[in-house]
Amino acid sequence: MARDLPIELPQLQNWSCHTCGECCKQHGIYVTGEEQARIERQNWTEADGIPAGQQLFVKMSGGLGKGWTRLAHREDGSCVFLDDKGLCRIHGKFGEPAKPLACRIYPYAFHPTEKGLTVSLRFSCPSVVANLGTPVVEQRGELKRLAKLVVPADHKTVPPPALADSKSIPWPDVMAIVDALDATLAQEDVPIHVRLLQALHWTRQLGEANLKDITGERFIELLSLLLDEASLVMSELSGEARPPKQISAVQFRLLVGQYARKDTYLNVQPTWADRWKLLSWGLSFAWGSGNVPAVQNVFREVPFSTLEQSFGPLPEEAEEFLTRYFRVKIQGLHFCGPAYYNQDILQGFNSLVLVYPVVMWIARWLAASANRQQLTREDVLLAITIADHHHGYSPALNTWAFRSRVRTLVQLNEVATLVRWYSR
Ligand code: SF4
Repeated sequence: MARDLPIELPQLQNWSCHTCGECCKQHGIYVTGEEQARIERQNWTEADGIPAGQQLFVKMSGGLGKGWTRLAHREDGSCVFLDDKGLCRIHGKFGEPAKPLACRIYPYAFHPTEKGLTVSLRFSCPSVVANLGTPVVEQRGELKRLAKLVVPADHKTVPPPALADSKSIPWPDVMAIVDALDATLAQEDVPIHVRLLQALHWTRQLGEANLKDITGERFIELLSLLLDEASLVMSELSGEARPPKQISAVQFRLLVGQYARKDTYLNVQPTWADRWKLLSWGLSFAWGSGNVPAVQNVFREVPFSTLEQSFGPLPEEAEEFLTRYFRVKIQGLHFCGPAYYNQDILQGFNSLVLVYPVVMWIARWLAASANRQQLTREDVLLAITIADHHHGYSPALNTWAFRSRVRTLVQLNEVATLVRWYSR
């Protein structure tokens, strides 16, 4: 068990639970054998609001290894322990520590490094996206207590994520890249999409550099040179937006179609009708003409072509939401290594940057669903919530097809094109 590890907390983020119950409706909660036995001993009855005969646990196969158990969901998709007021019955009756660990940790995510732990948050929680509650830095004591429950004793043996496929680098160089990315994204006087373009530019150059014998101080000097060069070409990077090539547009629509869905444990065992619906959605996104199928009930069918038109400048505050999103993910190492399907730093960073056009596309769809051609702050907030539900967690994002989609966009140098196109 981890003992008094140095813990790096996101400086920009606030969070307290506002009991909206959303997490209890969309996530599968893994329970250990010990947690299952404890909940069974709690002896839930109809008097507690649990209907007679209600199954409390479901045995699953795949995903977390050979068979695992999760809390059951009701027919409306909510956890069996969620009450009518949006509160957890286990928490209400037996206190917070009686809940499964997965519920206690959400929306936090802990990632071991060489020297300690970084902490990130899941923006699928509406309170995280809206930055509501107590500053995370003031929750250090509680987070240290939780960290001891989740971080394995051998955390120091966690290897650093590779820079790219065949280039491994030591932990201090990994953390120097994290600091350099964070510095690029911290430039408040530069629009967020331009900061992402700068970071894409210098990370691409880093991937192409010969790093033989360049480590430690020399590696930091190299990063500093790359950052300076990216600032010098800023106006070039943020130049005129052009639409993505046709092949990239298809790959991007398929990718965004995956992010826009709301996969829950209601559809974990799809019927043939569900499979047919998914196939027809996939074909619509690949084809990209006619109407966008409404893949969840916050959307309305709107023409694909509408979402390619300009939606004007970002609403006030959206720059802050997006900046915080990317900086929290970067500072918390929530884009590579074990926190992101064991992907290397550059591939993981490109996947993270792609969340920007994904969020803009989904926000446009929300606006168009309400017959607007201008984004509101609520469109952007909800779009981040929808996209981050999947990022780093959905098994669909870890498939060969999804990874190859991202690789194709990177190889065609179209990630930057997509960022520019959907920023307008
Ligand atoms: S989604 Fe966030 S605010 Fe809502 S119940 Fe879950 S943790 Fe609390």
